Amino acid sequence: MLDLQDLDLQLDQVAHKRKSLPEHAALAELATEKSVVDRELVTADTEVSDLQREQKKADSDVDQVRQRKARNQQRLDSGQITSPRDLENLQHEIGSLDRRISDLEDAELEVMERLEAAEATQADLRTRADAFAGRQAELEGTRDAALKELDEQRASLGDQRATVAAEIPEDLIAMYQRLRERNGGIGAAPLVGKRCMGCRMELAPSDLTRFKAAAPDAVLRCEECGRILVRTAESSV
Ligand SMILES: [Zn+2]
Repeated sequence: MLDLQDLDLQLDQVAHKRKSLPEHAALAELATEKSVVDRELVTADTEVSDLQREQKKADSDVDQVRQRKARNQQRLDSGQITSPRDLENLQHEIGSLDRRISDLEDAELEVMERLEAAEATQADLRTRADAFAGRQAELEGTRDAALKELDEQRASLGDQRATVAAEIPEDLIAMYQRLRERNGGIGAAPLVGKRCMGCRMELAPSDLTRFKAAAPDAVLRCEECGRILVRTAESSV
């Protein structure tokens, strides 16, 4: 009976260790931090692709105006336009196209700078996300190794428990289980001297007298805590 109790406590410990592995908490914390970075990375990806599109548009805007200016310049250089008024208009248009090109180039440069900044942020976030993923894999590895070892311990203790439990009557085991659930995992305790080691109370003299008279295979219960009391060499009965 006490062997069974001892094995059950060891099994409880293994179950507790499984639940309270430090990797569980570390992984939960990491997942929270990682999800923030992952979200920021999605935003950064979107911003980079938006700016890439904007840059292409700015490039083509500049190209179009440059082509228009080149066409006008060609007409001017061809010498085919002779009317002074037409020449003046054309020169005037070329002048305003120059200003337009300059404005568009400024805008193009500004987009380029914003794109560079967004790409730097994106790269930084990607590095952080990768580091989180690496740390996560590492923690999962140590967690799984720890769980595997605990599973092996649990299996071995389970085998030992089955062997021990096979020697004990079923109804006694059922009673022990109920007591264990009610009493913080301890359903059976040794009687040491006159003391129940489950609740640490000394037994009343009348109970001791009764226990002394009990048959060796009788099931004794502590009058204080109700646990199964197991007689050992250290018992005073
Ligand atoms: Zn007791």
